[in-house]
Amino acid sequence: MEKNASQNAPRFASLRRMKITRIEPILVTTPYTYGGIAKGETATRWPTMDTLLVKVETDQGLTGWGEAFGFSSCATTCTAIDSLIAPAALGRDPSDIPALMADLHRKLHTYGRSGPVYYGLSGLDIALWDIAGQIAGKSIARLLSDDAATMIPSYASLLRYDDAELAARNAADAVGRGYTRIKLHEIGVAEVKAAREAIGPKIELTLDTNCRWDPTQALTHARSMEPFNLTFIEEPVWPPEDYDRLREVSRGTRTAIAAGENHTTLSDFERLIDVGGVRYIQPSVTKVGGITAMIEIIAMAHARGVAVAPHSPYFGPGLIAAAHLCASIAREAALEQFYATLEARPFDGGVGVTSGTIQVPVDPGLGVKPDEAVIARCRVA
Ligand SMILES: [Mg+2]
Repeated sequence: MEKNASQNAPRFASLRRMKITRIEPILVTTPYTYGGIAKGETATRWPTMDTLLVKVETDQGLTGWGEAFGFSSCATTCTAIDSLIAPAALGRDPSDIPALMADLHRKLHTYGRSGPVYYGLSGLDIALWDIAGQIAGKSIARLLSDDAATMIPSYASLLRYDDAELAARNAADAVGRGYTRIKLHEIGVAEVKAAREAIGPKIELTLDTNCRWDPTQALTHARSMEPFNLTFIEEPVWPPEDYDRLREVSRGTRTAIAAGENHTTLSDFERLIDVGGVRYIQPSVTKVGGITAMIEIIAMAHARGVAVAPHSPYFGPGLIAAAHLCASIAREAALEQFYATLEARPFDGGVGVTSGTIQVPVDPGLGVKPDEAVIARCRVA
């Protein structure tokens, strides 16, 4: 049984008067490539890869970095941070992170129990854990577990191509680079079949449909994927909160069902398991409320015997925070890494630049510092 969030929480008696003095959202946008130009109508269409960093400063001279979701919603999340979260959090003492975050969640709940306010709070929470680690002289993984792993498995999360040839070519390319686990973002049998044939039977293959299947057809589609020996199918049903339909699909196909990247509260995740019957939950550290919330969600899932497969298609502190969680309290999980190459990365330090396995940073906090030159060059807000 995992410890709950407040048991895991670092507390710093000597710094009781620490105060948050600045919360700055920084939007970084970079060109990227992902192995060809996707063709189909539902293919990935982001013109740039956007990362919303959250820089938090304290009166003790410490600076922490977080990441808030994300992609096309970055500008909206920026506004939520500037107009709602920063006014509520500035001047507050972050020594007890769960207590502060619980208070902020209560104060801001009327603006939504999901969406940009939650995303912004997630970025703040990650930055506070970065600071907590710096004070303790421990990485976040070591704050969470004394026997945290230093190497963890990762998987290549391919973007959606809607094109069988591109799906197959990039899946094979990822295997060639050392990945033994591949995830596709496709919805058609032809793409999944081509990718499975390209990588052979031994590579672990999962499929993320991003809620594209009509609820009346989801079970039929899920069954059509059974020949490809998928470890799980992710988000097979629209809308994501249709827990009854998820249960039908979970019970009606041999393939395990995963879901959770579009869920935020602890009770959402309880329902995914208790009603939806999902066998993998996929909380996203930049969406659910940061590391503090992840601790509670992971403990709940483990208490129910369900595996965690964190959602982390990120390139900044969100990816690094997920790595620390996989290394410590979600040891069954492989780290999701987007199979895309950015022209420049806002954070470096090894995470995301190798394949198959990654080294978890061991320096205090996130253990990785931002590349200030990249941020200066690629910052748009
Ligand atoms: Mg997904």
